[in-house]
Amino acid sequence: MCGIVAYLGQREATPILLEGIKRLEYRGYDSAGIAVIRGGKVLIRRSVGRISALEEKVGGELDGATIGMAHTRWATHGAPTEINAHPHCDASGKLALVHNGIIENYRVLRTFLENHGVRLESQTDTEVLAKLVGHFYDGCLEEAVRRALREVRGTFGIAVLHTDEPETIVAARRGSPLILGVGQGEYVVASDAAAIIQHTPQVIYLSDNEVVTVTRDGFRTTNLQAAPVTKELEEIEWTLEQLELGEHQHFMSKEIFEQPEALRTCLRGRVDLEEARVVLGGLDSVTRELVRCKRIILAGCGTAWHSCLVGKYLIEEMARIPCEVEYASEFRYRNPLIFDRTVVVAISQSGETADTLAALREAKDRGALALGIVNAVGSTIARETDAGVYLHVGPEIGVASTKAFIGQLTVLSLLAAFLGRRRHMSHPECLRYLKELSQIPQAIERTLELSSQTRRIAARFVEANNWLYLGRGLQYPIALEGALKLKEISYIHAEGLPAAEMKHGPIALINEDMPVVVIAVHDHLYDKVISNIEEVRSRGGRVIAVATEGDAHIGRLAEEVLYVPEVPEMLQPLVTVVPLQLLAYHAAVLRGCDVDKPRNLAKSVTVE
Ligand code: GLU
Repeated sequence: MCGIVAYLGQREATPILLEGIKRLEYRGYDSAGIAVIRGGKVLIRRSVGRISALEEKVGGELDGATIGMAHTRWATHGAPTEINAHPHCDASGKLALVHNGIIENYRVLRTFLENHGVRLESQTDTEVLAKLVGHFYDGCLEEAVRRALREVRGTFGIAVLHTDEPETIVAARRGSPLILGVGQGEYVVASDAAAIIQHTPQVIYLSDNEVVTVTRDGFRTTNLQAAPVTKELEEIEWTLEQLELGEHQHFMSKEIFEQPEALRTCLRGRVDLEEARVVLGGLDSVTRELVRCKRIILAGCGTAWHSCLVGKYLIEEMARIPCEVEYASEFRYRNPLIFDRTVVVAISQSGETADTLAALREAKDRGALALGIVNAVGSTIARETDAGVYLHVGPEIGVASTKAFIGQLTVLSLLAAFLGRRRHMSHPECLRYLKELSQIPQAIERTLELSSQTRRIAARFVEANNWLYLGRGLQYPIALEGALKLKEISYIHAEGLPAAEMKHGPIALINEDMPVVVIAVHDHLYDKVISNIEEVRSRGGRVIAVATEGDAHIGRLAEEVLYVPEVPEMLQPLVTVVPLQLLAYHAAVLRGCDVDKPRNLAKSVTVE
């Protein structure tokens, strides 16, 4: 969500900053701004809408600066207007600050400042922080930042400049990610690695309540009490190519098509066919505790929550451990029951999802063993869990999650087998399962061939404003995920339901205008799903079925059939979700929507 980039080095700062925030565009934003220091003055430009508008405004006006910062804002306090866009200044106009997150006690701080005669211009919580740092400034920016942050409740990633210290960037974080890239004689501070990787792979990940002060002579990190903190240099594992579109029109289609490879990398080194075991190095330190657990709670939001629903089936079926699924946002405020030997698994692509992080902390405080399943290496969830498993599917830029979902399902399939094998699965049973799992990338490759058929189907139904998605058992979460994809990127209203639930209410909606996507693959519920299709047909609904190759019967019941390869029941979600992703993608393209940056959405939801 939103983004910060700050630069200090030998090169022209403005193009680096603008390029940097473009790399963060995928996180979602509504306005943007930039500040540089040149000739002892801070120069600021801000604009509403796309970064290209800011670029136009900037023109060459900020050339000649080697220090500066830029920001993309995802408005939380105050409309997305130019006045509310960042950077914000202090009362003297010498200090500029950019911020991601929310200052929860901004009202109290605002009154405090107003009582000291400080006037505020915008409606943002951020401006209050800028003015507060300025209020405390007494010749040392680093100290003023610490002093102000000690007063703040809420979350922040910030970068601050001051004309009295024209060669210094001070940055700090709590709850919003911030990374310092350390190059040859230059530094880049950014809210994610995507804005750093083209300059240097060497980074330090700031932790909560840490402040980094960057000058031309180096950098130092402290906590809010000014005690030095030692940080280790780490290496970003993504490459620049992974952040480029290649021959694809959108990141979403690139990422859908990357799924077979994503699954392969996710499995790499984790399947030991010789021993019929799953190797998850990230769980080594907790394996005994994990295997002896009595209950597992899977927590996530959005697509990750759908992965959790699939994970519950897999874990209960294969490991026979009671497993519950929670919306992370609800869990944290619900006074949850955590008994002895409970394991909580937080699932988040970015590893920064504020709700999921909060759920994790709640669970940890109550004594649960806390595990994470995340994609972004070094992210907050990854660092705060007791142990965990990375997806290793590469950066996901499209806001609507696709390959990360496949990664999450794969890791959950591995986790289920990891536990199952240590509890009661036999060698041959587990061996068969792991071999089948290793075949899934090929099955997805075949499924991707459905792309042109899904485009045709999308075109046929593109005028419909309401869609239903039905599935049962393991396919119910996939129905939810299919509906979510369509909603997110094409703005068509869609609902996912367990197929049998339809008759308890939603069936009232069905008429000749309603496309109903039914996942009717060969599994133990197949006959039941066929009856549900009949119910839809009798009310005039237009059935689009996802069925198993070779199913001769279903063509007589559905107007359109998307045939997917036959794979074992437990692994089918990895395949059936693919045509639903493609369907949503093509519908969005046909409707002229901004597929990779859908309105109102942010990639990494770092606010509550
Ligand atoms: N809360 C701040 C605002 O609304 C920052 C939002 C952001 O993270 O971009 O301006």
